[in-house]
Amino acid sequence: MNEDTRIVHAGRHPSHFHGAVNTPVYRCSTILSESVAELKEKVRNKFDMVDYGRLGTPSTMDLEAAVAELEGGARAIATSSGLAAIAGCLTGLLAAGDHLLMTDSAYFPTRKFCDEVLARFGVETTYYDPLIGAGIADLMRENTKVVFTEAPGSLTFEMQDIPAIAEAAHAGGALVAMDNTWATPLFFKPFAHGVDVSIHAGTKYIVGHSDAMVGLIVCKTPELFTRIKTTTANFGYSLSGDDAFLALRGLRTMKVRLKHHQESALEIAKWLHARPDVARVLYPALPEDPGHAIWKRDFTGASGLMGVELAPAGDKNIPAMNAFLDALKLFGLGYSWGGFESLAIPATGAIQRTATTFQAEGPVVRLHVGLEDVDDLKADLESAFAAYRTAIG
Ligand SMILES: *Cc1c(COP(=O)(O)O)cnc(C)c1O
Repeated sequence: MNEDTRIVHAGRHPSHFHGAVNTPVYRCSTILSESVAELKEKVRNKFDMVDYGRLGTPSTMDLEAAVAELEGGARAIATSSGLAAIAGCLTGLLAAGDHLLMTDSAYFPTRKFCDEVLARFGVETTYYDPLIGAGIADLMRENTKVVFTEAPGSLTFEMQDIPAIAEAAHAGGALVAMDNTWATPLFFKPFAHGVDVSIHAGTKYIVGHSDAMVGLIVCKTPELFTRIKTTTANFGYSLSGDDAFLALRGLRTMKVRLKHHQESALEIAKWLHARPDVARVLYPALPEDPGHAIWKRDFTGASGLMGVELAPAGDKNIPAMNAFLDALKLFGLGYSWGGFESLAIPATGAIQRTATTFQAEGPVVRLHVGLEDVDDLKADLESAFAAYRTAIG
């Protein structure tokens, strides 16, 4: 089956629901049984049967099945946010005394989870250069159990050589986890490139409409699923039927939305790249991007999120960047991304590094290119550049 067909049919069972095209919203805590024997059978098969609202309902299970099928994993676990999926994956795979290798370009709340939670429970984190590739072998220790990757990196958009990192990690006895949110299950196939556990902030493109928080942990094997699901169940992680429904509804149109995001983002990236008031565009689909060769080798598409380093303005970097962002009218100022609408945030000041430094002379902003008309978006950016120049004086 082609992916365009799969995304329409995966995880859908109309015959289970009186022919309804979409799996209905299951709002439930209690699940009743006809007998004690049935009650006990559900407990024995609690990850496969509908046993209790917290552990999963048809709404969440169909979402999990659809995402796992699209990405090529064995099974998935739905959580209440992308960050909960990261926390569930790491706590499911690590124990006191273990060592974690974390990319220095990780999503900032991932770093906070390592530094402020895992550290308290005896897991040591070492941050590594996202561009390290096979050199990760030199950082592997006897107790390194997980190598965590994210490509492209949050805010800085470095590409990682996932197959090279995975080969070295596996040779050293570690599992490979990846935050695959940027590419979605459509544009990068982690399990075909050596990844064992893939994580998505479903909040972004899967939900796609900025109206729900959803996380997904997709596992390559049933064994990894059982291991991580056991932990997330112990922690009480769950996803509401309403939010699972919104994620499944968003998923059905994700491919057509992403095609549009990609086309507009590439056009805007090229337009930005050619401007004298832009120092650099951080977008691996752009041929001039340092990560382009890896992106082209491993990925089949690009989403609508990029970084832009504006022309250096010396000690006016920050006020001029703020003037640029304040002048935007169609690009909303706010966190998250992956919805239908364009967004912008300041990245300068938010980029946190410990293993490496991120060099930028000019201020860096992050743009999410939404589904608006691309010429309208360019006109909006044009007025922001005018404000930038005025602020520099
Ligand atoms: C947004 C984001 C997350 C966290 O997702 P939430 O649903 O907001 O918790 C994780 N990783 C990346 C790369 C993200 O952009």
